[in-house]
Amino acid sequence: MGMRRRIVAGNWKMNGSKDLVQQLVAPIREQAECLGSGAEVVIIPPALYVDAVQADAGALAVGVQNVSEWQSGAYTGEISAEMARDMGCQYVLVGHSERRQLFGETDEMVAAKVEQVLKAGLTAVLCVGETLAQREAGDAERVVAAQVLLGLARVDAACWSQVVVAYEPVWAIGSGRTATAGDAQAMHAEIRNVLSSMKAPSDRISVLYGGSVKADNAAALFSEPDIDGGLIGGASLSADEFVSICRALPANT
Ligand code: PGA
Repeated sequence: MGMRRRIVAGNWKMNGSKDLVQQLVAPIREQAECLGSGAEVVIIPPALYVDAVQADAGALAVGVQNVSEWQSGAYTGEISAEMARDMGCQYVLVGHSERRQLFGETDEMVAAKVEQVLKAGLTAVLCVGETLAQREAGDAERVVAAQVLLGLARVDAACWSQVVVAYEPVWAIGSGRTATAGDAQAMHAEIRNVLSSMKAPSDRISVLYGGSVKADNAAALFSEPDIDGGLIGGASLSADEFVSICRALPANT
């Protein structure tokens, strides 16, 4: 009952511009201000635009899509979790499937990044999810459980309140193919079991669904008991779509 933060987060990926910031942020902020307590709307633009989004963000939270696994130093092209904090971010995506697949992020790197994020005092959104081949082979639960266990291996007991998990089946990302609400719910319940096995306070950790969430399927997903909101890619680039998705968050009970 109202134990978990309900969250809708928009991951812009490598899209956007100053113009898009101007178009999107104000209407989303206005919608966010109408949501009751316990609901959070997060904008996760490319890091270069964090400052521009912040300028207009009001009650919206802001995040970045990736940080370095290192604290600071000679790592050309990287940004640190501490820099994200310094610029007013509250959230960091870690281990998005595009990072894992296109940039070779391993579970070990993901765990190091989660550790940096928590050390900076920010919330890590650990992204996990199986490929189509893994699902078809009956391996989905095993793969996702391993990603949760390994990605969160370095979290110490005092920091669980800074952890969010996003279940994003790789085959559903950007494909227009969504997991059914029932299949997503089953995986979310499994993720909560894995968190419990790690002695995490699993009933207080938000688990978001991602993968082709749109205005017309969000309500069904968000009404499942273990789905606490969504991580939204494509639909976060349209104010109308994204605002409708935010509205689909059930009221706090
Ligand atoms: P999508 O992306 O909503 O475009 O499927 C989700 C994500 O990758 O976070």
